[in-house]
Amino acid sequence: MKIKGTTISQGIAIGQAHLLDVEKFLLPSYEIKDEEVESEVNRFNAALKLTIEEIEEIKEKTRQSASDEAGAIFDVHIAILNDPTLKRNTVTRIIKERKNAEQAFTTSIKNVVEVLEKSSDPYFKERAIDIRDLARRVIVNLQGKKKSDSPTYESPIVVSSQLSPSQTSVLHASVKGFVTEHGGKTSHTAIIARSLEIPAVIGVKGIVEAVSPGDEIIIDGIDGLVIIKPTEDEKEEYLNKLKAFKERRSKLLEESKKPSKTVDGHHIKIRCNIDFEEELEKVNEFGVEGVGLYRSEFLYLKCAPELPSEEDHFETYKRIAEAAYPFKAVIRTLDLGGEKYFHEQLAPQEVNPVLGLRAIRFSLRHHQFFKTQLKGILRASTKKNLEIMFPMVTIVEELKTAKDVLKEAMQDLKREGVPFDEEIKVGIMIEIPICALNAEAFALDVDFFSIGTNDLIQYLMAIDRNNESVAGYYDPHHPAFLRLLLSIASVAKRNKIGLSICGEVASDPDMIPLLIGLGYDEFSMTPQSVLEVKSKIISLLYKECRKIALEATKMKTGRQVRNLLKGSKMPSFLGIKLGKTKDES
Ligand code: PEP
Ligand code: MG
Repeated sequence: MKIKGTTISQGIAIGQAHLLDVEKFLLPSYEIKDEEVESEVNRFNAALKLTIEEIEEIKEKTRQSASDEAGAIFDVHIAILNDPTLKRNTVTRIIKERKNAEQAFTTSIKNVVEVLEKSSDPYFKERAIDIRDLARRVIVNLQGKKKSDSPTYESPIVVSSQLSPSQTSVLHASVKGFVTEHGGKTSHTAIIARSLEIPAVIGVKGIVEAVSPGDEIIIDGIDGLVIIKPTEDEKEEYLNKLKAFKERRSKLLEESKKPSKTVDGHHIKIRCNIDFEEELEKVNEFGVEGVGLYRSEFLYLKCAPELPSEEDHFETYKRIAEAAYPFKAVIRTLDLGGEKYFHEQLAPQEVNPVLGLRAIRFSLRHHQFFKTQLKGILRASTKKNLEIMFPMVTIVEELKTAKDVLKEAMQDLKREGVPFDEEIKVGIMIEIPICALNAEAFALDVDFFSIGTNDLIQYLMAIDRNNESVAGYYDPHHPAFLRLLLSIASVAKRNKIGLSICGEVASDPDMIPLLIGLGYDEFSMTPQSVLEVKSKIISLLYKECRKIALEATKMKTGRQVRNLLKGSKMPSFLGIKLGKTKDES
């Protein structure tokens, strides 16, 4: 039996199902006597302290086995457990309502979970999973029993309705892969799985019902599939696929030493999208030419619940500039939705945050903190290889205001006698349709455009990029989208400004011929994708790409474009299939 899901971390794993139940734990409920109040409060405080110690331990292990940034996710959990309101509410319930500690604590934390679950922002919905896991830990410690999560099989594959970050990192040493029914690509669990390079597929509906403990299963983290109780033939097929996957990685590693040029000598720059500083190591590998996108929101996550100080900004960007040198690194200013829970004090609740006070809109409302970030970037720019990029720009006025704040930041630094790159390049992400259609109006005021295709497609097609039920509409081959890319490229060329793509389409080897043909020669992508993309680039003929891309822009549907690509001489490699819409699969 095969069930389809979404790959969040590539690879193939074959093993036995280890079912984890994150939801169920015994929750005793009783009234305490007056004389028991003090000992009940003490019992609660001891369990909380023990839980914090456990999370500290997990954090340390994660730091060592994954990265500082992956470990830092647990700082947020520790901050939640240390939250004075949560403690006060629990203790008040014990004292005033005579509730036992388990009940008092569960009620208090339920309020936090409910607020997050009601949020229309998938990011917050996913954080509710983290908090439920914290609650489970506190309850287990209150009851004085240790629940063993450790799998006992030889090659365990964890199957769960959902998986918390702490479980992912505690389990990772002993498991071969993860499968869950829920979760999103932006979840901390997904981030940790990718960091740890463990094959993982999420959104596998019905998997918990469909498997029994010990069942043999295969995770196909290439095509996003889970195979339950595979037949001998299927097992053999996947052992071969795994062998081919490994062989292909070694071949790609060898190939990556070649320069990034098409067969007819067209140089294509590959840069990295960096979320975690730990990924910076990859910036000097495989002929990568710097950082095309540093998503600075991960610095905010790391510092949460505090906002990063100017010093935090400076130190981080300095490390990025040094890692990328002599190539450039593009620092994108904050792109947070309007209601990240640790920024409640700054942003109001929004019904539809994807269309709300996101990114540059948010920064322009919070002038002072925007300026702090800009000062941090400027201070780190003395090697002259940093560039500033504003996300989600909609109208020209926003760009002008953002540049005014940048000027102010520069004046402040001059007054303070602090050196910085006075010629620092400034660009925008093109990811909102009106900005894409009006690119000419922005071109005079910027040094570069970088196309955020994830959001551009989301807003063009009116599909929430985190909503599984409309994911079938996502179609980067759609000719109307290709025409838009072509027109942005011609605006950039005419105005002689920089041009790159940093959205996920740049990580897709099958999109590369089209993108090159449309006039793009700089791509920024997750480090994991570099080898496949480079291998594609060195197999292409520029003039073929141009011909096929121009032909594609004249078509009417994404399917026609895919058929065009299939019929062309463009090579298509193992494991990398052309994207298909639902009706084609
Ligand atoms: C994009 O929208 O394509 C992009 C690169 O930005 P993010 O994915 O961070 O929104
Ligand atoms: Mg974006």
